[in-house]
Amino acid sequence: MTSAPPTFQYLGLPWNLIFGAGTLARLPTELDRMGLARALVLSTPEQADDARGVANLIGERAAGVFAGAAMHVPLDTVAAAERTASDLRADCSVAFGGGSTTGLGKALALRLGLPNIAIPTTYAGSEMTNIWGTTEGNCKTTGRDNRVVPDLTIYDPDLTVSLPVSLSVTSGLNAMAQAAVNVLDEDVAPIVALMAEEAVRVLASALPKIVTNPTDPVVRAEMLYGACLAGAALGTGATSLHHRLCHVLGGLGAPHAETHTVLLPHTTAYNSNATPYRAARLARALGGDDAALALAELARSIGAPVALAEIGIAENQLGLVVTTALASPLRNAEAVTVDRLNRLLDNAFHGRAPERI
Ligand code: NAD
Repeated sequence: MTSAPPTFQYLGLPWNLIFGAGTLARLPTELDRMGLARALVLSTPEQADDARGVANLIGERAAGVFAGAAMHVPLDTVAAAERTASDLRADCSVAFGGGSTTGLGKALALRLGLPNIAIPTTYAGSEMTNIWGTTEGNCKTTGRDNRVVPDLTIYDPDLTVSLPVSLSVTSGLNAMAQAAVNVLDEDVAPIVALMAEEAVRVLASALPKIVTNPTDPVVRAEMLYGACLAGAALGTGATSLHHRLCHVLGGLGAPHAETHTVLLPHTTAYNSNATPYRAARLARALGGDDAALALAELARSIGAPVALAEIGIAENQLGLVVTTALASPLRNAEAVTVDRLNRLLDNAFHGRAPERI
């Protein structure tokens, strides 16, 4: 099987990355180099002690700590962080944590023009994208804006060793989703597909090891490198049916990484007929014959959730998911109809094997 000769447009993002074990120690000198003197350190309540540790590390360059970051970046949290930043005369934010905390740093960058530094401690990959998101009630709003791309990201894999195995699995499969959809999508630039394919390979190799050797720093570094590449693919690539469904389910309260985890084999099967060359490439990167089945088997083998029923979605919500998902135009290689979407979601709800509907 061959692919068509490439025609593409590629628009890069202004990444500034430091990657390596122990690199958190470089934060003070990097702040000095960037001319930043009053950093507001952000975290979730669960990581408040770590955030205070970061504030201690940067000493007089710390304006304070805001440890109120929350999943899906609620607007009232953003407002509280804005007030704190203003009261403390912060000149930048340092987001220490997962996608929720990175997302808060992005919101402050968008609304206040505050330079943002990301120190990821999960495999969410948000730090590599220009995608911002906030929620109000059940409604999640997202957009792309290069102003939210962190001015610096420090990837220190040692900081992810404390991430519990179950969260590491779902967070890693969330990264896998970002990469897999961009391998499958024929419209994304070949440069992006290369990053995505390498991310799939690295993550597929590291994910089983994270379960058996969660404290191995080499495995953690592989996972974080895969997440970085996957985030790069999401940031410069495309989104389609998979992300639309996750977005809608997220608005209904479904946990972010788990939702990606459950849906990925199903959305991959759904689109595999439309782009057979890319599907074969994805299967190869996963080390299998069929991409969707390989993803389902990987998830099962590492104890990931496999059914929407397991992650807080009720069967009577599926109809609303379909109508909301189809309420606005959707770019997707395979035609999306109400009947086919009902079937996909029914399979995902019950945790059945993925099928090419
Ligand atoms: P999260 O940031 O909500 O973190 C989950 C929990 O794990 C939190 O309690 C956190 O404090 C804790 N945690 C994080 N790192 C830890 C560590 N090393 N050790 C122990 N505990 C740790 O979860 P997430 O999956 O990283 O991020 C999900 C959010 O990110 C969602 O809101 C999603 O929409 C967003 N996201 C955005 C993008 C984007 O491009 N904008 C991409 C991916 C995810």
